Amino acid sequence: MTSHSPVVITDRALLCDRGFIDGVWLAASKTFAVHNPASGVELAQVADFGPTETTAAVAAAAHAQPAWAARTAKDRSAILRRWFELIVAAQDDLAAIMTAEQGKPLAEARGEVLFGAAFIEWFGEEAKRTYGEVIPSPVRGRQLLALRQPVGVVAAITPWNFPNAMITRKAAPALAAGCTFIVKPAPETPLSALALAVLAERAGVPLGVFNVIPTTRASEVGSVLTEHPLVRKFSFTGSTAVGKLLMAQCASTVKRVSLELGGNAPFLVFDDADLDAAVVGALASKFRNAGQTCVCANRFLVQSSVVDSFTRKLAVAVAALTVGDGMTPGVVQGPLISERAVQKVERLVADATAQGARVVCGGARHALGGTFYAPTVLAGVTPAMTIAREEIFGPVVTIIPFADDADAIAMANDTPFGLAAYAYTRDLARAWRVAEALEYGMVGINEGIISTELAPFGGIKESGIGREGARQGIDEYLEIKYVAMGGLGG
Ligand code: NAP
Repeated sequence: MTSHSPVVITDRALLCDRGFIDGVWLAASKTFAVHNPASGVELAQVADFGPTETTAAVAAAAHAQPAWAARTAKDRSAILRRWFELIVAAQDDLAAIMTAEQGKPLAEARGEVLFGAAFIEWFGEEAKRTYGEVIPSPVRGRQLLALRQPVGVVAAITPWNFPNAMITRKAAPALAAGCTFIVKPAPETPLSALALAVLAERAGVPLGVFNVIPTTRASEVGSVLTEHPLVRKFSFTGSTAVGKLLMAQCASTVKRVSLELGGNAPFLVFDDADLDAAVVGALASKFRNAGQTCVCANRFLVQSSVVDSFTRKLAVAVAALTVGDGMTPGVVQGPLISERAVQKVERLVADATAQGARVVCGGARHALGGTFYAPTVLAGVTPAMTIAREEIFGPVVTIIPFADDADAIAMANDTPFGLAAYAYTRDLARAWRVAEALEYGMVGINEGIISTELAPFGGIKESGIGREGARQGIDEYLEIKYVAMGGLGG
């Protein structure tokens, strides 16, 4: 355990620097540093696991799985309920750990902790509802049944932008279904993952059911998780490029695969929209986590007749956003995760302005230095610019005018991505038409924040496969077994 870490929390046992396999906290011969992106201060040296530990975790998860699946759904549900309650009780400490290693403002971190916990609550309840079917038989003396059974060992790889919730929304349905689970968190944010393991242990999650592999050796560990024959399901959240690679690796053993990948979310503002509401939605969608979410609006498509007034109103609101260390009260935008992330934003903004985009506010690094970037609005962006085609993953609004509905929908759909889209309009018929026409897995109408554990989250096209959350989320971790039971007489 880290005794000298600068993270100030009440329950110091939540700060772990070892990996967690088969219910044992294990050190490694090598360690890696975790830093606070707001200050650069080192927070911990964490065990750097490799393929050997990963293989051991797979064996432990495979060994634990039959007994976990054999428990009643009610038993598994009760354990998940305890885990949920412990996370809620520890929300302040978990939020402080997250802000320290990830940078998001403390209130946002607490929001993520509760959002993450909600998946454990929801799927703990869903554990009891994995009903099968009895199919009306075509002949007498035979019964046809469809059973739903756990897939088996599940492996997951998760990103740094949601260090808690990207894990719980995979682990909760997996455990609820009777699967066991191994996660490789991002090397920037292993402390949140390890704190979840401490609370899982306290909740009574049995040995080997939930395992955490901290590592900087992503491809070596990833090879084990995607190619090991005992892993039956692989779930990934991260970039589309890495998702494609891992999906190909999973082909060798024909694993079930869920992918939550990148997006290029359009945010449509029509001429009849409530522009003030659209500004509120735009801020929420774009600036949460400093623009570093997969569902952040990436392109603001605004009808020409309202583009100037919307841009003016939005720029006033954006210029007023308080940037700083996420631990400072009142801060709504923290640092970006790394220097590399800032350089990507700089490259995209420079390319756009060189091609004629106009900086309305921001447009450069923030005066705080480090990896802080000023909240930015760029007007006069065109769909051909790289900034409109790549995920920005930073606090930059790009405004692209459109002429009519057909123009807006064509532009919105002109991307290989299909995760989230947003539209603001007060015309009910237009809202419905647009929602149907947008080629996206999720559409927010007059809403900038749409994620909830109650609804199916996921993308189409190159944004992914499968859904997380909602009653559909547990299907990803269940197989359907057909049993034809004959010889019943009659
Ligand atoms: P990333 O580079 O794909 O990394 C995600 C995870 O994959 C990290 O744990 C990373 O570890 C690991 N990884 C990278 N290369 C690997 C390999 N060859 N083998 C095995 N593991 C590998 O993504 P990111 O830039 O950190 O995260 C942001 C991306 O995630 C964005 O594209 C965002 O849209 C997407 N995202 C999607 C959703 C969704 O639900 N659709 C949610 C959140 C984020 P290392 O860092 O050590 O390489």
